[in-house]
Amino acid sequence: MPVEVNSALPATIPVSDQPPLRELLSYSRPYRGRRRLAVAMSLLNKVCDVAPELLIGAAVDIVVSSSGQSFVGRILGTDDRFTQLSVLVAVTVLIWLAESATEYLAVTTWRNLAQTIEHEARMDAYRHIQTLEMAYFEDRTSGGLMAILNDDVNQLERFLDLGPHKLIITAANVVFVGLTFLVVSPLLALLAFLPIPVIIAGSLWYQARLEPRYAAVRSAAGIIGDTLTNGIGGIATIKAFNAEDREVARVEADSEAYRLANRDAITYSTAFNPLIRMAVLAGFTMTLIVGGRAALNGDLAVGVFSMLVYMTQRLLWPLTALGETLDQYQRAMASCRRIFGLLRAQPRILPGTTTLPSPVQGAITFDDVSFRYSPDPADPPVLERVSIAVPAGETHAIVGPTGSGKSTVLKLLLRLYEPTDGRITLDGVQIDQLSFASLRGATGLVAQDVFLFHGTVRENLAYGRPDATDAEIRRAAELAEAASFIEALPDGYDTLVGERGQKLSGGQRQRLTIARAILRDPAVLILDEATSAVDNETEAAIQRSLAKVAAGRTTVVIAHRLSTVRHAHRIHVLEAGRVVEAGTHDELVAAGGLYAALWRVQTGEAAHASAD
Ligand code: ATP
Ligand code: MG
Repeated sequence: MPVEVNSALPATIPVSDQPPLRELLSYSRPYRGRRRLAVAMSLLNKVCDVAPELLIGAAVDIVVSSSGQSFVGRILGTDDRFTQLSVLVAVTVLIWLAESATEYLAVTTWRNLAQTIEHEARMDAYRHIQTLEMAYFEDRTSGGLMAILNDDVNQLERFLDLGPHKLIITAANVVFVGLTFLVVSPLLALLAFLPIPVIIAGSLWYQARLEPRYAAVRSAAGIIGDTLTNGIGGIATIKAFNAEDREVARVEADSEAYRLANRDAITYSTAFNPLIRMAVLAGFTMTLIVGGRAALNGDLAVGVFSMLVYMTQRLLWPLTALGETLDQYQRAMASCRRIFGLLRAQPRILPGTTTLPSPVQGAITFDDVSFRYSPDPADPPVLERVSIAVPAGETHAIVGPTGSGKSTVLKLLLRLYEPTDGRITLDGVQIDQLSFASLRGATGLVAQDVFLFHGTVRENLAYGRPDATDAEIRRAAELAEAASFIEALPDGYDTLVGERGQKLSGGQRQRLTIARAILRDPAVLILDEATSAVDNETEAAIQRSLAKVAAGRTTVVIAHRLSTVRHAHRIHVLEAGRVVEAGTHDELVAAGGLYAALWRVQTGEAAHASAD
């Protein structure tokens, strides 16, 4: 059966059903002053933009009134037509200058406001996902989340940049020009306004149809994000399995789906403009004919007629831009719904408020703890009534077959997951009452799947203690048997380790994570297969260091190689999620149970290996 990674994967991120624009604008609330300035500048800009048309009417009026008794002449109190024209020109120049200035101010204010809103939305979304529990991330893909945090947030500016400015000037235009029309000729006003209800009704109809189409486009973009992240992250595996063509085909299929989703949206979004134009043309022709006849009959002054013809243009043509703005609005809102859908995900593991008194002793108890990863109660539990007590300062080991639930025990201790049943305490306090800072601050984890950040060796070592001195960092590296290989690296502690530490060997990565945990100097040290990737000699050296580090510190060790844990104060043996036996190494070997069997196999192997 062909493997279909994408179809199997992600739980989709819910889309918010609240009015997205209102939520988005709430981000601009703290910047009320800037918002008001932007609105005022847009309005003023429109006034400056309409005024020259009135001035043209006045100019024609001056030129055709041979007596000098024009409207401007009456205001200025002079019959000299050249003086009248000169004043008109001066006013026009001033208005044009003002138009440029207000446009500059309006556009910069709106665009900067858009960037501020985008920034706040991005930070809100990123801060929010940091509060979500591990399970949330396991059910989704990093590509899908990245698409929201990056693509969708960036999409917002398509509308926010100039959309509000355009909508305001379009509305102001209708009001200003409409008023002028009403004063001059109510009949022509009626004719010129006829297309407007048609355009508004058309816009609403069009918006309703465009919305689901843009939602489909954004969701297709998220899926491409998934596939790309997978394809780039897994590049070594892709090459090793000759899967390049298959991966290209996968991206091609997703990209094609994106293209088709867009084509569907484009069909609608571009049909709108010609429709508006038709309506505009109808209004324009009517004013031209009706107004022209009135002018011919002498019922309308020539100056007024020419002004009205210009004004009709002014009234209706800007409406054609409405289609584009609404289109940008729908696109941005589709993204907005996805961002707010993400923000609505509720964290299911909340921190408590208690802080452990310092110094933390590190006594751990698991009391009848049961757990399953899936929320379905019908699924078998991964841990069943596990009880473990680690007194402060002791070293305990958890061993057992692969998949028996060892790492899960540690994840519960760090509260990355919540037990289905039972309780876990640290120094007598139930861990769900502890703040994350107190609980996780008391623990140093070397996880089974090693993760290093892209950055220098030093940055990675100091990740849990950014204030550590160079001497402390070096000491931790020495204890983890990492100092000598680090010093041999081209830039020593300043060497870049590459994404996920890929420029280092598996054993080197593992030793860095041990040093990282030791440097934190935690009350509880947790080691999950911490030395599984190093050779026996290095492992023995690390064991000797760890014995020093572990002295007087609570340590929980998981290991498959039983020789590394035989000196533990107590060994808990897990099998299929249950603690089947516990005791010291000698007790367990004597008991002849699962541990003794595992021990026999391993020492038998050792004897076999040394016999070769
Ligand atoms: P190993 O020795 O191979 O590391 P382990 O004892 O540490 O094994 P766990 O990682 O605790 O085993 O896993 C126990 C069981 O829980 C396994 O059956 C595994 O498939 C399942 N499991 C682990 N992590 C998850 C997860 N995030 N979601 C669902 N199931 C999981
Ligand atoms: Mg494990």
